[in-house]
Amino acid sequence: MTFAATILTLYPDMFPGPLGLSLAGRALERGDWSCEAVQIRDFATDKHRTVDDTPAGGGAGMVLKADVLAAALDSVQPPASVRPELVEGPSFTSSAAQQEKSGASTSSARTETYVGRPILAMTPRGKPITQARIRELAAGPGAIILCGRFEGFDERIFAARGVEEVSVGDIVLSGGEPAALMILDACIRLLPGVMGAASSGHEESFENGLLEYPQYTRPYEWEGRTIPEVLRSGDHAKIAAWRKARSEEDTRLRRPDLWDRHGGGRGQPASGEQ
Ligand code: SAM
Repeated sequence: MTFAATILTLYPDMFPGPLGLSLAGRALERGDWSCEAVQIRDFATDKHRTVDDTPAGGGAGMVLKADVLAAALDSVQPPASVRPELVEGPSFTSSAAQQEKSGASTSSARTETYVGRPILAMTPRGKPITQARIRELAAGPGAIILCGRFEGFDERIFAARGVEEVSVGDIVLSGGEPAALMILDACIRLLPGVMGAASSGHEESFENGLLEYPQYTRPYEWEGRTIPEVLRSGDHAKIAAWRKARSEEDTRLRRPDLWDRHGGGRGQPASGEQ
C-alpha cells in the first residue's frame, strides 16, 4: 500500500523538498509513498484569489478563510467519503469535543472519526505530535496535511472537516510547511522496507517511552576522551544492561515529563496517553 501524502499549502514548491532526497527520496521513487502538493489559493473564488481576511475582533495579521480551506480539502477528499459517526477518534480529541467539554460548543460541535485519510492541520495550538501517533499514521493510508500561514486558520474549519490539530513543539514557525515535512519524514522512515533490515526503528528514542542510550563509534579515544569500557567488552548481556540503565537514567534526568508519563520507565503509558 502506498502511503499517500497530500499537502495543502500556499507554497507547493516546498514539497517534496528535502523528502525528495536520501531515504525518503528513494522511497518516493520506489512508490512506497506519494506526494501531492495542492495550492490553497486555487480554491479562492474572487478575482484577487484571496485566501485570508482580517481577524474577527480585530488585531494584527491575517487569518486563513474557512470557506477556501474547505473547498481545497473537499477537492482532495470529498465530504461524501466521510462518515460522521460520533465515535471518539482513536488518538485525538477534536477541538470540537474540547469546546463541548468547556461548554463553549454549539449543537454542531462533536467528535468525529472520518473514513479515508486523516486530515491534520499544523498549528502550535494543536496536540503535540508523539511517536505513537506517527506509528498510527504510518500504518494507515496516508495523511492530508493543512499548512497554515499568517495568524493561522479560521477555527471553524477543524470541527467542520474533522481536522486533527497537531503541533510539532512549543515553538512558532512562520508556516506549517516545515512542520508537515517533519511529520511526513517521521512517517516515511517507518514504512515497510524504507529503513531496511538494519534497523526496525523499535530501539529508537520514544519507542518504549524512553530516550535512546548514548552512541559512540571509532576511534575509541578521541581528544583524550574514551568511550565506556563496557562497549568494548564484547559481552552482549552487559552491553544491553548498560544501555538500558543509561536509557532510563537519561530519560529521568533529561525528560522527567516522559519518565513520569510512561510510569517511570516501565513502558506503561499513563491512562489516556498514546
Ligand atoms: N498565530 C499562531 C499562534 O500564535 O498560535 C501562530 C501562527 S504561525 C506564525 C503560522 C503557521 O505556522 C501556523 O498556522 C501553523 O500552520 C504553522 N506553525 C507554527 N508553529 C507551529 C508548530 N509549533 N507546530 C505546527 N505548526 C506550526
